[in-house]
Amino acid sequence: MRVKNICRRVFLLAFVTCIGLYGFAQSADIILTNGKIFTANQQQLYVQALAIRDNKIFATGTTAAIEKLAAGNTKKIDLEGKTVVPGFNDQHDHFAFAFSAAPLTFDHVEFSVPGLGKAAVLDSVARLLVNAKPGEWIEGKIGTTVFFDTSMRRSLDSIAPDNPVLLQVQWGHGVVTNKKALYAAGLSDTAKDPVGGWYDRNSDGNISGVQQNAEEPFRIAINMAYPGAIIPLMESFAREQLKGGITSTLFMGTGFTHSLATTTLQHANIPRRLRIVAWPRSTLQGRQISEWPVVPTHPTPTSTISGIKYCIDGTPLEGNALSSKPYHNRGNGNGRLNYPVDTIRQMLKEALTNKRQLLIHITADSSFGIVLHLIQESGTPEQWRPLRVRVEHNTAGDPTKDQRKIIKRLWYSDYAYT
Ligand SMILES: [Zn+2]
Repeated sequence: MRVKNICRRVFLLAFVTCIGLYGFAQSADIILTNGKIFTANQQQLYVQALAIRDNKIFATGTTAAIEKLAAGNTKKIDLEGKTVVPGFNDQHDHFAFAFSAAPLTFDHVEFSVPGLGKAAVLDSVARLLVNAKPGEWIEGKIGTTVFFDTSMRRSLDSIAPDNPVLLQVQWGHGVVTNKKALYAAGLSDTAKDPVGGWYDRNSDGNISGVQQNAEEPFRIAINMAYPGAIIPLMESFAREQLKGGITSTLFMGTGFTHSLATTTLQHANIPRRLRIVAWPRSTLQGRQISEWPVVPTHPTPTSTISGIKYCIDGTPLEGNALSSKPYHNRGNGNGRLNYPVDTIRQMLKEALTNKRQLLIHITADSSFGIVLHLIQESGTPEQWRPLRVRVEHNTAGDPTKDQRKIIKRLWYSDYAYT
């Protein structure tokens, strides 16, 4: 909302840097004058005007000074007092569970943790089945009521024997599957829990719920089935973000492999910067990290695939993240870590060895405490600081004073704490 409000009042431009006016002799391609231009430079936060050449800001200053840089073919924009700010950077987004490539989808608009009941969700699936061709994927969003209900598997198999159906919790940390979707994801009911996730089984011993990183093969299977569908979705999302002044975005690599991300970026027309962060799928054999190159790649001049992301825990919404306080919707359990401590230790070691930025989803206080301890014991400030480790979605509350000291020492020397 805030972004929208700002954007009503401002022109937005995304440029690399603002450079002061030092009497450049060359003429400008574009000049902006009579405005309030935010520079992010503490010495002078706002200037009246700027000049652009070859898509770069090469001069800023007063309107009178900048007008001198205009030539006959310079485009002149009179801002009439409006504000100009740099493009906003969306630092955390997920493409693959926000936008489904499946041809048949439903989304219950209201965000609700319990979500709709079984009958309503089955009704939505049944409506989509009317027009479904055999083998076409059906995808929909659910809440915990249906996610925890292992009888869904039998019901979905019964109404959709010929179509893979994937029902995702609205916040992306679990799915309900039917038999067709299970097989389309390359799995079967005899599959054992992969590292990073686990399966919920019904009374027949068949897989119904798919938890945490165990869901990744399903997302990849949908995207692989409809690679052409991802491109227009990504393009329209980029256009929407640009309207809101967002000129660069970081997508967590959910639902992608490195090669799928690369070909998608190469075929999509996305007029802004984009970064995709590796998100390795998990199998019984472990994390499939070799599928994502350690060295950053650039599928296009404006896109980068770099860094690596892991969900260390789930979320308080489905009661999986390891918390000091019990979750009442999960029989007062305290949640859990998605990965064994030894695997987390190994992830940290890999980050230090490969010098690859680590992005770790942690949402509960106990998980945060454990990971911070492991980070502290695995490397020195000199090793950790350049990596700029990121904790994503942290809803664990404020770190303790001791934790803040560790964060300042290991991560950010300018981190202010009291
Ligand atoms: Zn996220």
